[in-house]
Amino acid sequence: MTDTENTYCQVAVNNSFNNSILTYAQGDQELKPGQLVEVPLGKRLIKGMVLRNNLKKEETLKGVNLKVVKGILSEEIQIDGEELTLFEWMSDYYHYALGPLIFDCLPGFLKRPRELKYLIGKNEEFPFEPTEDQQKVIDTIGEKLFSGFSKWLIHGVTGSGKTLIYLLMAQKVLKKDKTVLFILPEINLTPQFLKTFETYLGVPIYSYNSSVSKSDKFGLWKLLQNDKSPKVILGVRSSIFLPIKNLGLIVVDEEHDPSFKQEDRCPYNARDVATKRAHILKIPIILGSATPSLETFFSFCQDKMRSNYFRLSKRIGDSTLPKIEYVDMKGEYDADLWPFKTTTLEKIEQALDKGEQILVYVNRLGFARYLQCRSCGHKFSCPNCSLNLRYFKARNELDCPFCEYKDKAPEICPECSNLKIFQKGFGTEKLSSILNKRFPEIKIERFDRDELKTIKNINACLERYNKGEIDILVGTQMLSKGHNFKNTNLVIVLGTDNQLNFPDFRSNERVFQQLVQVSGRSGRFAKKSEVLVHTLNKDNKVYSHVEKSGEDSFYDEEIFTREMLDLPPFSRVVMLYFTSKFQTQAMEGANLAKAILKRLTQEHFDKVNIQGPRASLVERRANKFTWAILLKSSDINHLHNLISTFKNHFKPHYSVSLKIDVDPYQIQ
Ligand SMILES: [Zn+2]
Ligand SMILES: [Zn+2]
Repeated sequence: MTDTENTYCQVAVNNSFNNSILTYAQGDQELKPGQLVEVPLGKRLIKGMVLRNNLKKEETLKGVNLKVVKGILSEEIQIDGEELTLFEWMSDYYHYALGPLIFDCLPGFLKRPRELKYLIGKNEEFPFEPTEDQQKVIDTIGEKLFSGFSKWLIHGVTGSGKTLIYLLMAQKVLKKDKTVLFILPEINLTPQFLKTFETYLGVPIYSYNSSVSKSDKFGLWKLLQNDKSPKVILGVRSSIFLPIKNLGLIVVDEEHDPSFKQEDRCPYNARDVATKRAHILKIPIILGSATPSLETFFSFCQDKMRSNYFRLSKRIGDSTLPKIEYVDMKGEYDADLWPFKTTTLEKIEQALDKGEQILVYVNRLGFARYLQCRSCGHKFSCPNCSLNLRYFKARNELDCPFCEYKDKAPEICPECSNLKIFQKGFGTEKLSSILNKRFPEIKIERFDRDELKTIKNINACLERYNKGEIDILVGTQMLSKGHNFKNTNLVIVLGTDNQLNFPDFRSNERVFQQLVQVSGRSGRFAKKSEVLVHTLNKDNKVYSHVEKSGEDSFYDEEIFTREMLDLPPFSRVVMLYFTSKFQTQAMEGANLAKAILKRLTQEHFDKVNIQGPRASLVERRANKFTWAILLKSSDINHLHNLISTFKNHFKPHYSVSLKIDVDPYQIQ
């Protein structure tokens, strides 16, 4: 028995004070690392997790009168050593306080959770044999499934049969009584995979995403902590933290997808955290994508990774990749049809005549991107953000994409009382209204977050489309990912030009990925299919690469450009954001940071390049101002050490908060 009277423990608390690591007296309690406790901080009680226990007085800060741990918060949930190793790695790598990180990831605690819901797999025979290409992947990965950490990339065009490979790999792992974690970027892809897994696998299958109830989330955590029987878990990015005790394989599908990156709180990339977890647990991880991220692709081009890379450049069965055509938006202009062209509407009509369905893709919501007075040029912008308001015609409203602000659509210009107001740009609402006028007998629906607010609505809409009850579906990115539509051989794409002009080194990559992905929805089960991309800029090189998605020309060229400009993967980037309700404080915070960073790089970390400060692309959001600094280096250690040292020196105005974004996906 330890003498608990004079022992102490180190606790990661749910508060960023002192980087969240504090020391407490244990009192007369026996505590273990990984245990969740309640501790006093100031006048409040907060949550914490024991990091180290039974410390002697000499191991704590001398001369400080330490407070006593209040008690145990939950006996039901604990963090084990391997999980803690992952959290500690994340805390170091993303420079985010350990305590808040852990408590962001844990489920809410419930006193009386309901019985946990799950599916039982039916274990049916596969109705198809793998192709020669698929078999090669299956054999190669299969040989290494049980020999420690390994990382694989399946780079297969849309429709090349990656799912069958995942299934067969999962089956082998389950047979050895181990669990498979399958991570998807978007909740709306879940039903399709659930159905496949339920049919062909013979174990319990659990989902973990935002549509799963609090009770089931808590229930699953509790179950996984104790139950080592093999199962499949199908989740979104946060499922990477589930306390699976006998994990045998992680699959990350659509590994390039921006949804794997959490943008708020700790900005982590679930794909990279998954890779780290596989490494800690010494198990394989399979990444899959038709359009891998440039970093992933490049890492598999290196000699030692080459044999772990598989290129599937043909669709399975009779289906071929769609023909991509670029529609020049210059020239002919018809106000009733714009932004569609007459030729596009003719193609839609032909497809409808054949009894086929059509997808129309645009990356924006609403009827118009913004409104502008025809006489004085006044733009209707958000009073809380430096951004124009979007116009929604049916609701007769203007709204802001960044804050809650809404207003009635104006009838006259408030500046000059002019009655004529321009509607600039377009979104899903405008496109569906033009199509409705042109094809009044046809069933047209919208597939976007304005129209479909719950996962239930999303699934119902997909089901109606799959049953043929919808003829034309007009949607945003939600539409572009992973869905297998049977009767769709024409996809119309609009509005990608704007994204190409976006000042972010990833904008080419993102547009390429979106176009290839959305094109991939066309002709999944047909010999002939088509994609019409509307653009003012036909000659942009990104467009020419989309036509050749079975080749790697985009990657070759983009890698060359990134190397010339010393951008990732040839360097690493970290963004620092300084936010305050006072514009001057945000600016001054960033300037102060720059001075410290400059001195530190001169003295110790000369391999880091500092750019900025500058105002964030949208400087004011919900009445808060943000300024940004970009750090870039080919030496990752220099970069991390600089940030750690900087954090110790940086003491900004009380109103300034600092966000550190390591490996940013979206530069703001
Ligand atoms: Zn005006
Ligand atoms: Zn706003």
